[in-house]
Amino acid sequence: MRATILCLALLIGAAPAGAEPAAHGQTVAAQSPVIKAFAAKVDATKQAMMGDPAIARKSAEDLLRMADTMKRDGSVSARDAAISSATARWLLAEAYIFLNDTPRAKSLVAEALTSIQSGAPGSKLNGDLLRSRATLAEMSGDVQGALKDYLSAHRIFRAIGEARSRAIALQDIGNLYLEAADFDRVQSYYSQSLEAYSEDPWLNLATYNNRGQAYREQGNFAKAEAEYGLALKAARQLESQLLEARILTNLAETQYELGKLDQALATLARAESLVAQGGEAAGWHPFILGVRAMVEAKRGDTEKAGQLMSAAFAGQDLAKTEMPFRELHEAATGIYETLGERDAALAHLKAFQRLDREALRLTASVSAQLMSAQFDFANQNLKISELKQGQLQRDITIERQRGEFRTRLFIALGTALLIIFAMLAFGYVSIRRSRNQVRATNVELSASNVALEKALKARTDFLATTSHEIRTPLNGVLGMAQVLLADRRLTKDTRERVELLRGAGETMKTLVDDILDVAKMEAGDMPVESEEVDLARLIADCVGLWREAAAGKSLALDCVLENVPARAMTDGGRLRQILSNLLSNAIKFTPQGSVTLSVSGTADGVVFAVRDTGIGIDETEHARIFEAFTQANNSTTREFSGTGLGLAISQRLARALGGDIAVTSTSGEGSCFTLTLPLQAIGEGYAEIAEASDTLAHAAVLLIERNIANHALMRMLLAPETRTVDIAFSAENALEQMKSAHFDHILIEGASTGGIDDIRAIIAAAEAAGSKTTLLAAPTEQLGKAEMFAAGADQVILKPVGAADLIAGLKALYAAPADRGEDNRPMRIAS
Ligand code: ADP
Repeated sequence: MRATILCLALLIGAAPAGAEPAAHGQTVAAQSPVIKAFAAKVDATKQAMMGDPAIARKSAEDLLRMADTMKRDGSVSARDAAISSATARWLLAEAYIFLNDTPRAKSLVAEALTSIQSGAPGSKLNGDLLRSRATLAEMSGDVQGALKDYLSAHRIFRAIGEARSRAIALQDIGNLYLEAADFDRVQSYYSQSLEAYSEDPWLNLATYNNRGQAYREQGNFAKAEAEYGLALKAARQLESQLLEARILTNLAETQYELGKLDQALATLARAESLVAQGGEAAGWHPFILGVRAMVEAKRGDTEKAGQLMSAAFAGQDLAKTEMPFRELHEAATGIYETLGERDAALAHLKAFQRLDREALRLTASVSAQLMSAQFDFANQNLKISELKQGQLQRDITIERQRGEFRTRLFIALGTALLIIFAMLAFGYVSIRRSRNQVRATNVELSASNVALEKALKARTDFLATTSHEIRTPLNGVLGMAQVLLADRRLTKDTRERVELLRGAGETMKTLVDDILDVAKMEAGDMPVESEEVDLARLIADCVGLWREAAAGKSLALDCVLENVPARAMTDGGRLRQILSNLLSNAIKFTPQGSVTLSVSGTADGVVFAVRDTGIGIDETEHARIFEAFTQANNSTTREFSGTGLGLAISQRLARALGGDIAVTSTSGEGSCFTLTLPLQAIGEGYAEIAEASDTLAHAAVLLIERNIANHALMRMLLAPETRTVDIAFSAENALEQMKSAHFDHILIEGASTGGIDDIRAIIAAAEAAGSKTTLLAAPTEQLGKAEMFAAGADQVILKPVGAADLIAGLKALYAAPADRGEDNRPMRIAS
């Protein structure tokens, strides 16, 4: 009676009404009377859903009108308007699902998803809508689509801590596997569901009942009996006679399988007493009678079994019975055969075969689809086709066996009555065999699933280990290239070659890092941290990192901040990784025009939008580009390098940080990638960005310092505050270095030069190269204060000076003139 139980679970899984908190009401709750009225109507609609879907539909239509009015008269914010209209569409779609009008439900869900994914992505409503879409996909036989959506919904619910919804999504997935007869997975998903949430008797009922079902199918009747016991408790808690009667019947059937015939009859008697009270449970009577017939037959009272079976099928057209009757037909065939009622036996045999074929077809199709959904991964094509061939082979074998059986039946019917008897006996044995074949096929399917899982895990481990192993020597290569480049004696040619070497090494390192990230994500091992982050600095750093690349393509690279909190809690490293990736793509795919990073603080967090005027992305590709190893399929993309990993990683990271990434783009007209993160501001104040390229952090600094003992110390002090630090040991050496490289800032330690003439020469060369200058010196007899200030440096810092003051002084040189005081050039920092 598998299908019956499935329906029960689906019904419970799909129920949005009653038990569900006023979730979408909450998002917009308690703001204005309009919204309050809307929230109340939402609750009423949900209540109506299980009782009378037609009333729920009318109520949802009212909601839609209310949402339209709110949107038109602007009485609520744009976000609330989007949520309200999506909520109304969702409820209307649910009503249509209950009313079996799937085309309407589908288009409503699609509309609502579009608006919620731009208005409130990652919200509970977003998850609920994905579940509705999955239900619709499942109803139309698209199991792969259903699995994908259930998994996405589950991810959302997990991210926002909606435990109950998460448990429901896990049950949805478990149900798919129940249909596919992959019972190990059924157990696993239902157990996860129970772990996620165990407060709801409706969900517990479905869990215990369907786990019992799975154990029965696996032949583990003792465990099945225990699960049904728990399901019974949940059903009593719900005070539903129908559910209790159904579960008692399942329990009795299990007791029958265990040979506990007296107990089975007692259980059935309890079920019958519930049914006798009339009400909704009355419709379940035939199944109780059928199972009683099975028990009586096993006890040897075939006469009574026959009577019970006739009562069970009274008024049924045997050519049209539904899936729940499958096992009863099987039992009836045996009973009537023993009674010598061959016409009845034959009719039940035919009915059984019809339903068995249907079950087999359903199971095979669902498992094939689920399997290919699990294998849906780049570079797995080979494995997929091998497994598909295996599936095909199994299908062919089963088909052939069925064909042979049909032929044999036909020949047998054409001969004498005696042979029909023999045929019936043979048919009965055949049924058993066919069922065993189904079981064997299922076991084989489960084994293939396990094998595949192992293969995927092995690949993930392999990727993780090899990329880790490659990283170590690669870092060595890059480090050595860096050391070579630091050597000023390199000729121009050699330097260019080493630069090339370093560039290629960097590319390879990015690739290896990406692969390692993907491997970690697949293994579910991608922890994110939470630390206090200086947002202005982080944003400036990211933009600064790409400034040179943008300038190289003559692209304008702008950064705009609006209401961005100065400091927030998040994982700075990961945020940097996402932003860098989006900026890198924007620059890569933009031949001319501009790239802008706009960051704005909102009530719910911070939105980072990277907009470009580049080649854009066709709408059909928008979802695909977030998949690993996928690039948009237009010919232009082929010009650009890349692995198709960046966005997949970024999106998963964004979700791990509690947010998401979305794209809007039109082919040929540029793209906008929006990263939304629910960042918690720390303290007051907003982030501001100085002109990104003109900060100490972006400066290449040349320090002139004679004393080698001070080199390490100064490097340690300056390196974290600047882009690069180079050191010259004399004025002559400094002038030489300035000829072969550009420095943004020359820091002259006075005593390290030959005197005021050297200092003037360096300042003149710096001015010619557009570099800032700081003269750092203690006044001496040879170099007095007055001379120092007259030398023409942008800034004079008098020694001795502490480390913090020195850095603060250097930074002050980059502040806007107003901050420094108008006539303060050159700036002094006294000891
Ligand atoms: P990669 O850039 O390494 O190919 P990504 O995952 O970062 O991988 O991007 C996937 C694909 O998405 C790219 O190959 C490109 O086709 C498309 N894409 C990403 N960003 C942009 C953009 N700003 N403009 C146009 N296409 C883009």
